[in-house]
Amino acid sequence: MESITTKAIASALGGIKSAIDIASKLSDASEAIKQADWKLQLAELVEKLADARIQISRVKAELNDKEEEINELKQSLKMKKKLKFNEKYGLYEAEEDGKTVRYCTKCYAEEKLVPVREEERLFVCKRCEQFYHRPEYKSKNEGPPRIVSRPMNRGNLW
Ligand SMILES: [Zn+2]
Repeated sequence: MESITTKAIASALGGIKSAIDIASKLSDASEAIKQADWKLQLAELVEKLADARIQISRVKAELNDKEEEINELKQSLKMKKKLKFNEKYGLYEAEEDGKTVRYCTKCYAEEKLVPVREEERLFVCKRCEQFYHRPEYKSKNEGPPRIVSRPMNRGNLW
C-alpha cells in the first residue's frame, strides 16, 4: 500500500524534475525564444516549484506524525517490558520509583495503562471502575466487600 508520504514525495520529485527541465530549456534558449513563450515557461516553472513545496510540507507533517507515533510506541513498549502480571490480584504491575504501581487488566486489554486505586479490600480502576479483590482480606472478613476510600493521611497501615 502506497502511503501519503510516498505519493507526496513522488509528486514533489515529479514537480522538481519538470521545474529543472523548464529551467534548463530557459537557460539554453537564445533570442530564438520569444518573450511571450519565455514568460509562459517562467510561470510554469514557478507553479511547479510551488507545488513541489506544498508536497514537501505534507511530507514534513507526515514525518512529524510518524515520529510522534514511534515515540509513543517506544514508550508503551518500554512500559510493557516493565509490566508483570500479578496472579494474586489479576493485575499488571510495575516498579516505579521504588513503588509498585498496579494497572487495570481490563483497560490493558484495550491498550490503555490505567493505574488502579487502592481500596480497603479492593483495587478499583479509575477509568472503567472494574474492581479486583484482594484475597488477603477474604479470610479476615466475611460478606461482600465494601468500598472504603483510604484517607490521605492514614499512611500504609498494611
Ligand atoms: Zn480499567
